[in-house]
Amino acid sequence: GTVHPHPARVLDALHGTVRGDVIGPDDPRYDRARRVYNALHDRRPAVVVRPVDADDCATAVNLARERGLPLAVRGGGHSVAGHGTCDDGLVLDLSRMRTVRVDPERRLARAQGGCTWRDFNRATYAHGLATTGGVVSSTGIAGLTLGGGMGHLARRYGLSCDNLTAAEIVTADGTLVRCDAEHETDLFWALRGGGGNFGAAVSLSYRLHPVADILGGPTFYPLDGDVVRRWRGLVADSPEEFNTLFAVALGPPVPFLPERWHGRPVCGVLTCFSGAEEEDDRVLARLAGLGPVLGRAVRRMPYPVINTLFDELLPAGLYHYWKGAFSRDVPDAAIDVHMRYGRALPSLESDTIVFPVDGACHRVGPEDTAFAYRDAVFSTVYGASVPDPSHIAEDIAWTREYDAALRPHTLDAGYVNFLTADDQNRIRASYRQNHDRLTVVKRRFDPGNLFRLNHNITPGR
Ligand code: FAD
Repeated sequence: GTVHPHPARVLDALHGTVRGDVIGPDDPRYDRARRVYNALHDRRPAVVVRPVDADDCATAVNLARERGLPLAVRGGGHSVAGHGTCDDGLVLDLSRMRTVRVDPERRLARAQGGCTWRDFNRATYAHGLATTGGVVSSTGIAGLTLGGGMGHLARRYGLSCDNLTAAEIVTADGTLVRCDAEHETDLFWALRGGGGNFGAAVSLSYRLHPVADILGGPTFYPLDGDVVRRWRGLVADSPEEFNTLFAVALGPPVPFLPERWHGRPVCGVLTCFSGAEEEDDRVLARLAGLGPVLGRAVRRMPYPVINTLFDELLPAGLYHYWKGAFSRDVPDAAIDVHMRYGRALPSLESDTIVFPVDGACHRVGPEDTAFAYRDAVFSTVYGASVPDPSHIAEDIAWTREYDAALRPHTLDAGYVNFLTADDQNRIRASYRQNHDRLTVVKRRFDPGNLFRLNHNITPGR
């Protein structure tokens, strides 16, 4: 059962034993330290610990276990479901552990568990290398990779978790476990899709690929189902190095989009072409063929830059409520739903984004890693992101209606990293046949379910 912790004693115990920051409610840093990206989750933890090394992590994990404190592990803090924080518990925030070491000869990078994709991409770009990561640079590598990891390089190089080569995890008993393809292989399997269920990752190692400068940026079209239909065809017959994300959004107030489209529903295609520069004109021609171009800003840029284009539109502190769904196709009936809800988007920051997850993602078998949906071709995320919470109840209701309308045209589950806290009942479906094996691994490494503030796999029994 839960032991009620004495807050002052918890703080004392940590102050004497942790080298990093120990921040309680009376600390002037507390209000900043408790905050996460999604302002919907306004929680008051008993303490925020910002470790500087694996020993600090172990000390914090041991204390949370011994005192029966709820434990939230935070990497980049982007969990839409709010899993990076909690009330009255211990937040283990790895944001001071941000070192990336690149081995250019072996094309590997070892990154600490608090890195963001900005940290990671910058370090690997210096060597002309990259791996699949998130499309917003402030997202954490840990939460994103452990849930799967979709991004601009996924069709070509697989999910982020497919590029994971090793990890170091502080497990529930406070020990540091290293796993890779030869050591602790069950844990290594479970980490690649199973989320934060098995411990705190102090480091993650990745395979890198030669990607330096790319042709990338947004192209905007009118909100029209025919644009989606042509894009669907583009995904089906374009090479894996030609990645495009499809968006339904309100026209952003950017100089390359004529003012009359600002704030009006549009379709957008965000391109990242990592092939040879000689092919650029052909890529641009294919984009022009998707429909009447309202505006575009597609140019050669360093790979890290393509993952910063949304940063300004999506600063920390907005209120987010999203849903996600996998699908093999975007059938006409689904397109109708996107058009209908696209006309009623609640804000400039809200959108629908369709990530293609074919190509290299399909060359990994559904049971090779915990990530089970290897037959999905698209992973769609949709919902409300608003700066002003005064209509949040309506925005949440709108997202749920959108979800209910779309669900008949998608597969039975969504990508865990796009689900919200009220989607716990969809977790089992998200892991399909892998759920049972995940439960076994969970039982071995976290029998008491200490790591439960996540898309939870329970130890059962
Ligand atoms: P946090 O809130 O810090 O952590 C979320 C969960 O991950 C934690 O509850 C914990 O269970 C686990 N976790 C985090 N750090 C660790 C660690 N060091 N050790 C063990 N467990 C840990 N997903 C994509 O696949 N592709 C995208 O392009 C993408 N874009 C996004 C853009 C935005 C603006 C946002 C908000 C989300 C996006 N996502 C994307 C979803 C993203 O993958 C999840 O929100 C993910 O949880 C973020 O990881 P984080 O470390 O930032 O989050």
